[in-house]
Amino acid sequence: MTKKYSLLINGKLVDGARTIDILNPATEAVVAACPVASPQQADEAVQAAKAAQQVWARTSIDERRQVLNAIADRIEQNSDSLARLLTAEQGKPLGDSNFEVGYLAYTLRQISQLNLPVEVSEDSDRRRVEIHYRPLGVVVGIIPWNFPIGLIGNKLPGALLTGNSVIIKPAPTTPLSTLLLGEILVDVVPPGLVNVIADANDLGEQLTRHPDVAKISFTGSTATGRKVMEAASPGLKRLTLELGGNDPAIVLDDVDPKTAAAGIFQYSFVNSGQICVAIKRAYVHTGVYDAVVDELTTLANQATVGDGSQQGVQFGPIQNQRQYEKALHYLEIGKRDGRVTTGDPELKGPGYFIKPTIVRDIDDASPLVKEEQFAPILPVIRYETEEDAIERANSSEFGLGASVWSRSSDRAADVASRLDAGTVWINQHLDLGPTIPLAPGKQSGLGVEMGIEGLKHFCQMKVINISKQV
Ligand code: NAD
Repeated sequence: MTKKYSLLINGKLVDGARTIDILNPATEAVVAACPVASPQQADEAVQAAKAAQQVWARTSIDERRQVLNAIADRIEQNSDSLARLLTAEQGKPLGDSNFEVGYLAYTLRQISQLNLPVEVSEDSDRRRVEIHYRPLGVVVGIIPWNFPIGLIGNKLPGALLTGNSVIIKPAPTTPLSTLLLGEILVDVVPPGLVNVIADANDLGEQLTRHPDVAKISFTGSTATGRKVMEAASPGLKRLTLELGGNDPAIVLDDVDPKTAAAGIFQYSFVNSGQICVAIKRAYVHTGVYDAVVDELTTLANQATVGDGSQQGVQFGPIQNQRQYEKALHYLEIGKRDGRVTTGDPELKGPGYFIKPTIVRDIDDASPLVKEEQFAPILPVIRYETEEDAIERANSSEFGLGASVWSRSSDRAADVASRLDAGTVWINQHLDLGPTIPLAPGKQSGLGVEMGIEGLKHFCQMKVINISKQV
């Protein structure tokens, strides 16, 4: 018999209104039944979070730090079962799941060490001006299916440290590991401080519109991000939106093709390309174009794709059927608009598998270059001048990340300074961390997560202006 999962509402593990089946994307078999919350239960979670927050806001930073570290301890004690479940529902290789679970614990510990002390912006004969950072209230953290556990780290630790309470809502195709997390935290956090509710993709609007929710920290697609903004607008709620991306990599003419290709390959295909900040289009100088494409092709053809629970698998399946169909659509576009250099991209079913695929001789007009494919299919585009590459890289509605690859740090820094993105990496991509702010540009989002700036986004700035002339 499969394990029974529960929602975590007001410190209690409870059944949902009904259940939905969660599939393993490598086998298409049912992993378990997932309880989904009713609208009444979602409201109960908000009310519980509201009551718990009022008490939590009065706790000291040391008390909050202890809770964050106790959560991290519990995650580490249960890392094996969390990682196995994550692989079963998400598809990623077990090593990647172990890393993701460990990364959440690491993030909790790192963020527990941050602080937002009172700042003094003026201390003159006339006045003393203090800036305090106060909690907002109830924070709703909405998570997508690509990093169901890891992305909790962008929401939970910062919200709790700054005195807020939290409702976590996982994506409807990957809720089980989050529900298990709720179960293992039931006796670690005060009732109502952290609530976990799953849905059938139908509670997002209610939660984001709810008058007792102060802030929404949302990670997901740009299309859904727009809906969140709309639902949050009547209450003028605080928002952090981490949305889609179409990160370019610009490969200059002085690279060692083998080294550059190894980096590009890693940061394009990890998690089978299902990462907001993956390299999604590579602009390669004509002088090294053939050599880089050949190296990428070799790496793609050597890749081991399969069920993430099996040893030696580098890349798991696409997470769900809808995304798999989208990926197949981009594969057809790649064949139509460019030349696929890698072998047969599809594995025989069951499972939603697509092997790492390289598409060459394609240009910016193709939807595979212009849109976010979110799949292991990388278009490699030739360019002649740096000016041209920068212009083409910047001509996107997205502005999440970008990278420059060169043996010259000066040349790379110059190109990096001209790229329109919230993060630009040099000779790497995707290097993120709990103390590194993530600030999406253009339609890739709003606000900041992580680091001190990220903490401030969970707070209301409160100015206390004291006259000294009495
Ligand atoms: P999605 O937008 O379909 O779903 C994300 C979450 O939003 C899910 O939990 C879903 O149930 C919920 N949701 C659905 N409708 C809602 C509504 N009306 N209001 C509130 N919430 C609602 O995204 P996805 O397909 O699960 O994830 C893939 C996308 O996420 C990609 O575009 C990717 O680039 C993006 N992403 C961004 C980041 C980042 O940090 N910028 C990180 C990971 C993924």
